[in-house]
Amino acid sequence: MTGTPEVANASGTIPRFALDEGPVSEVHAFWLAGMSCDGCSISIVGAQQPSVEQLLLGSIPGLPKVILHHPVLSVAVGKEFMKPHHLAKAGKLGAPYVVIYEGSVADERIAGQFGGYWSAMGTGGGAEAAPSPTAHWLRDLAPGAAAVIAVGTCATWGGIPAAAGNVTGSMSVMDLLGKDYLSTLGLPPINIPGCAPSGDNMTEVIAAVLMFLAGVGPLPEFDELGRPSWQFKQTVHRHCPRGGSYEEGKFDQEYGKGGCLVELGCWGPVVQCNIVLRGAQGHAGGCMNTGGICIGCTMPGFPDAFAPFYKKPPGSLMSTTASRATGNFISYLRKFTQDSRNRTNRWHKTEQVPSGWANVEGSPTVAARAVEFFYERLKRMGTEFKPGSSRQKALQAPSHSYLNTRPTWEGSEPSSGAAQSMPEAAE
Ligand code: SF4
Repeated sequence: MTGTPEVANASGTIPRFALDEGPVSEVHAFWLAGMSCDGCSISIVGAQQPSVEQLLLGSIPGLPKVILHHPVLSVAVGKEFMKPHHLAKAGKLGAPYVVIYEGSVADERIAGQFGGYWSAMGTGGGAEAAPSPTAHWLRDLAPGAAAVIAVGTCATWGGIPAAAGNVTGSMSVMDLLGKDYLSTLGLPPINIPGCAPSGDNMTEVIAAVLMFLAGVGPLPEFDELGRPSWQFKQTVHRHCPRGGSYEEGKFDQEYGKGGCLVELGCWGPVVQCNIVLRGAQGHAGGCMNTGGICIGCTMPGFPDAFAPFYKKPPGSLMSTTASRATGNFISYLRKFTQDSRNRTNRWHKTEQVPSGWANVEGSPTVAARAVEFFYERLKRMGTEFKPGSSRQKALQAPSHSYLNTRPTWEGSEPSSGAAQSMPEAAE
């Protein structure tokens, strides 16, 4: 079976809410799960900025309180749990709501042919006792929702259930709702990809949309695929802690060495994701931060476009060759400069590094002295700065004269023995 199922409200009407009736103090959130591993649910409960608890308690000034209807987290069960879903579907909830969808949306027409379903929650209500597919709940609740938010790569793009060999006809939320879908706030589906997305990525967007809904914040910026652009504009590579290794041509051939992992199959240079900046939870963890590669799980092409995993991306051949060619020479120059910056002015003069930890070469080679001579001149070029210049001496003269004439207090002078043990100050 092919094609996209038609989206139609069961009642034939599109329930809308008059947002100009006054400040929005409460917003319902219907969390629906399709072809899902529940990883997004697990991730969001670890969010901290803001936390789920803050959203539920309405403890953020200006933010409406969220009344969450989640199949795992809600206390209500059975008919009591499903009742708000039916009210919203009938346009009788009496409050704005958002729909949050986790997992791929299966083509329930396939399972329906055999009298079954792929993912369901509750029943159709009334006399209908058959389980109601969550794809149908999405279809029926989306027209009246203030916003539809797809969380996780399965819901945003189709993900693993929609990979090659897709027997369930799985698709994304935007595939189901279609190009013309707009929420009551006038928004196409919002997409927060990731497998699983960082919890903070989800709660941050939910909070931003609620602020817009409540009229206390601007509409957040989304990119052409409905991703929050501040979260997904830049590539993983840009903020990767191993990015410097790539630039210096240091590519690891095995894990655990600390260098760039591109030759082990990292796709970070082209993948849009903020995992290394934000971490998996609470600024901790996250693929490259913990020594792993990026397999592109936030991208619409995932997984097929990035498989086979753990194999060097062909596109990286040119850039790694270029980095190797220039990186080693640049690293050598940097080491040279770093060594001289690792010396104090005093050690430069005495040509000794008084380190008891290890032998540190204090006396630079003739070549190093020559390079340093020109390097220093280049460094100071265009400035008036020159250590030991006559101008600096003139500026320091009052201090020196004070030091030469300062009064002493009895007992404050070093003993003659201690004074003798002090090393000669370098010129
Ligand atoms: Fe870029 Fe991946 Fe290397 Fe990090 S490990 S520098 S993301 S290629």
